[in-house]
Amino acid sequence: MINELDMPTVLFLQKTSYIAGALTLGYLRLTSEESRGVGLLAASFIVLAGGSTLAGHAEIHPALYGPLSLINIVLAVLGYCLLGFAFIVISNPDRKINTWLVLIPAAATLAIGLITAFHLNNTYRATTFTFLGCLTMAGTAAVVFLDSYIEPLPIRKLVAAILASASLLALIMGLEFAFNTFPLLDVATGFFLMIISKFVLAIAIVIFISERQHIKIKRLADRDALTGLYNRRFFNTNVPKQAQEGDAVLYLDIDHFKQLNDRWGHAAGDEVLATMAQAVQSILPSSALFARQGGEEFIVFLPTNAGNALLHAERIRKTVAELRYPTIASEIAVTTSIGIAKATHEGSELSHLCREADRALYLAKAAGRNRVCDATQDVFPAKNQNLARSS
Ligand code: GH3
Ligand code: MG
Ligand code: MG
Repeated sequence: MINELDMPTVLFLQKTSYIAGALTLGYLRLTSEESRGVGLLAASFIVLAGGSTLAGHAEIHPALYGPLSLINIVLAVLGYCLLGFAFIVISNPDRKINTWLVLIPAAATLAIGLITAFHLNNTYRATTFTFLGCLTMAGTAAVVFLDSYIEPLPIRKLVAAILASASLLALIMGLEFAFNTFPLLDVATGFFLMIISKFVLAIAIVIFISERQHIKIKRLADRDALTGLYNRRFFNTNVPKQAQEGDAVLYLDIDHFKQLNDRWGHAAGDEVLATMAQAVQSILPSSALFARQGGEEFIVFLPTNAGNALLHAERIRKTVAELRYPTIASEIAVTTSIGIAKATHEGSELSHLCREADRALYLAKAAGRNRVCDATQDVFPAKNQNLARSS
């Protein structure tokens, strides 16, 4: 089928595909907050479509060949620079970049064209266009790939691979134009493959943004906004319902937190919650699952291989008691009480462990707070076991 393509058809296809791509990307930019940079990509498609249209007109109107071919190459340079910038921003939307810089290579091309009239030579123009495409796409492939360290989206590899393939294609075409011999790809086939690569890129970017949104939504669904910890829903769905022997559940509850809020304000209370959550997270083993139950209550699942649960709990208690907060007088210690329940046999029900840890927490509160209580230790006489948490 490719062999049947003639150049006017290819140029027509190029324009329509750029416009279809630009419309899709423009819509995505308007409807998604996560799509910074996609508007630039849409703009690059429009500029490239404009350049390609002028290239067609330059062939039909010999009298206007000079100015039209100059504008064609200037737009091609602008389009590829916009495309490169677009991918750099899409890949990492926090990157600060001055978009106006794209005008410099385009202005330089205009100046060089006016001085040397290189654009009148089809070979020079085609070589400039294809080599620039090769460089921008190779560079952006590397950026998109390397940004996996910041944001590991699965689609990155595909986008980087498409950009790298498009870069290789442009390199082959650039070399063919430079030596004016086309042993691997004839011009129409080369252009056709370039169109396809841009089209696939546009689709891949739609998937890219949708993956980014999915991860953001998943984070919102799984995490607590104030502390950044997992929430109760995540805990309940990710901890095995049947515990193994030795697995432990810890219930943490900050002591007299209402008084702290009343005395220092809710903002200070929030700061305590966030600071304490991060401090505890940092001392827990990686196999532990630490979540905010709600309010000033937290829960930890410690699998049996995480080591002695009682020691972990005591370490948490001590760490929290030693924390200090800028908005609260430095002599004030915010403390926490902790209840522990350990699975004594294979297949213990998680719900039972949670109830036991909660009971142990009541015991810790009743015993004076800022302490750890194990559900298996009958520390208190039976009459004390239903004491309310507040005192
Ligand atoms: P105890 O030692 O018995 O646990 O007493 P307490 O004051 O910590 O417990 P109580 O249940 O009486 O009060 C908990 C307080 O936690 C009440 C509520 O206003 C506060 N709280 C819950 N969620 C938040 C939050 O997200 N931010 C702040 N600042 N306060 C919160
Ligand atoms: Mg509480
Ligand atoms: Mg409390």
